[in-house]
Amino acid sequence: MDDRILVTRSSMPPYEEYIEAIKPLWDTHWLTNMGQYHQQLEKELKEYLGVSGLSLMVNGHMALELALQAFDFPEGSEVITTPFTFISTTHAIVRNRLQPVFCDVKSTDGTIDETRIEDLITEKTVAILPVHVYGNVCNIEGIQKIADKYDLRVIYDAAHAFGVKYKGRGIGSYGDASIFSFHATKVFNTIEGGAVSFAERRLYDKLYYLKNFGIQNEEIVSSVGANAKMNEFAAIMGLCNLKHIGEAIAERKKRYDLYRERLSRKGIRFFTPTQDADGNYAYLPILIEEGCRMTRDALYEELKQYGIYTRKYFYPLTSDQACFKNQYKRVALDTARKLSDEVLVLPLYDTLSVESIERICELISEREG
Ligand SMILES: *Cc1c(COP(=O)(O)O)cnc(C)c1O
Repeated sequence: MDDRILVTRSSMPPYEEYIEAIKPLWDTHWLTNMGQYHQQLEKELKEYLGVSGLSLMVNGHMALELALQAFDFPEGSEVITTPFTFISTTHAIVRNRLQPVFCDVKSTDGTIDETRIEDLITEKTVAILPVHVYGNVCNIEGIQKIADKYDLRVIYDAAHAFGVKYKGRGIGSYGDASIFSFHATKVFNTIEGGAVSFAERRLYDKLYYLKNFGIQNEEIVSSVGANAKMNEFAAIMGLCNLKHIGEAIAERKKRYDLYRERLSRKGIRFFTPTQDADGNYAYLPILIEEGCRMTRDALYEELKQYGIYTRKYFYPLTSDQACFKNQYKRVALDTARKLSDEVLVLPLYDTLSVESIERICELISEREG
């Protein structure tokens, strides 16, 4: 038996439940191409997420790439975004032949610092692409105000924010579009998968063509599209996992609260949850600030010796990665860089044992206390 504790562990429905659910596929032999389960999952997710439009995708990255593409921004346009994120966010901008303009983040929650956005706007700016990092909600009103003033689109990377609500409304109902990831390591998974949510109806068709080769009917291909369809096995995994999502998030919350209780001492800082937001407890990031006995990197190595695999999410900043370094507009990213040097994501998932959490907290307390 593997007794390592990894940073996460994929949620899975009971075995029999999934096996029962996939049985009909052996009658229909309909495995993909927007089948019955694809349609059902789209419908159920629209309800669960509280969004008026939703398009399922093969993964979160393609959801983001195609969401950006759906707006037909002119090549070389600028998109203001955060470097404190998973590399996918920046790749999606660049692969659309758009220019990322990195904006610093806030120390309190790691989301884009909306007070710094306006200074970065030029006549080439077309959109803002903020990330609800760790499920922490961005300053939605602040960002929308700027977008309205300068006529910009807002596309949220909500890959971490499945099930998060802000002011009682689904997080995916804000901005022009949001993308979710249903990757195995996320709060809700379809093994691999993702979705774009949006309010504007025309985006449904636009995304449908983009994810299915631009095929209009058997003989007509009216636009250039990719292949980003979710298959029926993945959709059924989603339908099964969705039945248990409330319970899974509640189990995460219990464990999150236990960590906070055990680690709430000087030196170790937690992000501040956004006011008026219902979180999803997707991650447990802690900040090992200056003045702690052990640095973040030393603590990371030390925990590894005990079989506890934490992650330095998000280090390095995407703007510092070899493929992007020194290629785009230089902006001071002091806070993002500081967070990136201090953050450590601890193991958190719905089935993590209380004993494991206590052991992790003890090891941390001994070293940082
Ligand atoms: C996971 C993730 C993605 C990409 O999602 P995939 O489903 O893995 O393709 C995009 N952005 C962020 C912030 C993520 O964490």
